[in-house]
Amino acid sequence: MIDVIFNIINKFGRLTYGEDITQIEHALQCAQIAREDGAADTLIAAALLHDIGQFIDDAGHAAEQHGIDARHEVIGATFLARSFPESVTEPVRMHVEAKRYLCAVEPYYRAALSRASELSLQLQGGPMSADEANVFAQSPYFDDAIKLRRYDDTGKQSDWAVADLEFYRPLLEKLMTNHGADAPKGPQG
Ligand code: FE
Repeated sequence: MIDVIFNIINKFGRLTYGEDITQIEHALQCAQIAREDGAADTLIAAALLHDIGQFIDDAGHAAEQHGIDARHEVIGATFLARSFPESVTEPVRMHVEAKRYLCAVEPYYRAALSRASELSLQLQGGPMSADEANVFAQSPYFDDAIKLRRYDDTGKQSDWAVADLEFYRPLLEKLMTNHGADAPKGPQG
């Protein structure tokens, strides 16, 4: 499964999706920021893999180019749930909602978004209402989702040399709940 994930990232990671850096640079920077922030391994993994839904659903990405929100965060979290615990997949699933939340509760947050993030915000439903924000703040993994969102917003620097994908292999392997056994189980279980 790790090889499947790395192959997907390597295959699609050279695309930019409207930002100034490639997706692989973005993923590696987010993971680096999480490490420098002293985040738990689960959150480091979430930071590295949070946008994988944009790579595994090319049709969805094409849809986003045409102004349709393909919900890449849900696609990614669902894909990762085959191998990783909720502590990894929930922040991934929530990272777009976290942006909508922060736009609602922090006056200066929205103005600092990248152009691509601002554009996608509109497709994603814009800032949360006060009621939505209150509900969201009660969610399990809320704190990690907010942290991931801030890593996501910061991990867009040009010319920053960070650890490469292979650096994260042991960390990911340790977190995996299903050691790559994607094939359906036989009658013996
Ligand atoms: Fe991102």
